[in-house]
Amino acid sequence: MHQLTCVHCGAHYRPDEIIYQCPRCGHLLAVDYDLDSLAIDRREWQKRPLSVWRYREILPVRGTPVTLQEGGTPLYHLTTLGRELGIRELYAKHEGMNPSGSFKDRGMTVGVSMALELGKRTVACASTGNTSASLAVYAAKAGIHAVVLLPSGKVALGKVAQALIHGANAISIRGNFDRALEMVHELCTTHGLYLLNSINPYRLEGQKTIGFEVIDQLGGTPDRIVLPVGNAGNISAIHKGLRELRALGMIENLPRMTGIQAEGSQPIVNAIKRGLSEVVPEQHPETVATAIRIGTPVNAEKALVAIRETGGTAEAVSDAEILAMQQDLARKEGIGVEPASAASLAGVKKLVALGVIDPDERVVCVVTGHLLKDPETVVRQCKPPIEIDADMPSLCSVLRL
Ligand SMILES: *Cc1c(COP(=O)(O)O)cnc(C)c1O
Ligand SMILES: [Zn+2]
Repeated sequence: MHQLTCVHCGAHYRPDEIIYQCPRCGHLLAVDYDLDSLAIDRREWQKRPLSVWRYREILPVRGTPVTLQEGGTPLYHLTTLGRELGIRELYAKHEGMNPSGSFKDRGMTVGVSMALELGKRTVACASTGNTSASLAVYAAKAGIHAVVLLPSGKVALGKVAQALIHGANAISIRGNFDRALEMVHELCTTHGLYLLNSINPYRLEGQKTIGFEVIDQLGGTPDRIVLPVGNAGNISAIHKGLRELRALGMIENLPRMTGIQAEGSQPIVNAIKRGLSEVVPEQHPETVATAIRIGTPVNAEKALVAIRETGGTAEAVSDAEILAMQQDLARKEGIGVEPASAASLAGVKKLVALGVIDPDERVVCVVTGHLLKDPETVVRQCKPPIEIDADMPSLCSVLRL
């Protein structure tokens, strides 16, 4: 069994209480297991397919989950980029290979399963795009309703397409993501919809399996895990999961959790660099990496602990660095990711140059979403195909043959 525990005041709550923050102090909640009472056999895990549900003993869902076989994503050894950056063991965990094309599916398979267990028939979120795509997919699979609030004009085309075709009730807000989240949070509290943003502690339970899979795939713990940070749910989730593995005696050390943000949207980076205990919200976040265009990261409290407790760090990269790395990953490694995802590797490049990352470290970058999520940004960057008449001389001439 599990319970909900406030990360600030330590108050405990029953797992079926529908709360998103501590009713006593307003801080974040986390799902807490009695790890000592769990009978977990690591060899049993290894026999199951690599997926979110390999680790079901330390997930909150008791019944049959709503699943589309999420997780089990490839971990690629980046040999060419690694050589260029001077890191022998550089890896990318390609979360774009999930059913809806981002790591959000790991959270939603658990979150929507919990919604059903809690008797909810309508789920809701605010989203820079991927959360809405994933929620729409899992609500469709579960046969329930999804309401998604999107910041008008700031959601990549592929993500909007997904929310629409999978049948979500999509609403465009004339405001940014942070405002959309405030609104949907209030809507859920007052009207009983089930909120599946990353403030929901059950969603983060699914996302923590990224760290479990990395360790199973590497056959050991990396020295560092680097990921793009928006609401900071994912970095917090992976850290929580790895702490649980350590408590279970399965690993000894935690990797240095390293968060990368875009220069135009870097409240976590500022808090880490200035040694603040709380983030100062960014009123007008702006970046080409729309998935991390977030000024008020709701999981900041957890993320600051994750970074500090593991000796990690946070760094910001420019939009130009992000787009250059997106292209490098595509052309030198054959890995297609959306801009936010490339931020993790752009951050590694910068941190190596700054001497923060040691060349001998074993570094895993989480690349969070698929290239096809945001085709418009790609088309703006690349030269269009050359159009010619449909004859052989024209073809040979354009190829200079
Ligand atoms: C959601 C998302 C992020 C940010 O994750 P947080 O948990 O909000 O920090 C980064 N990249 C992509 C592609 C995403 O969809
Ligand atoms: Zn509390």
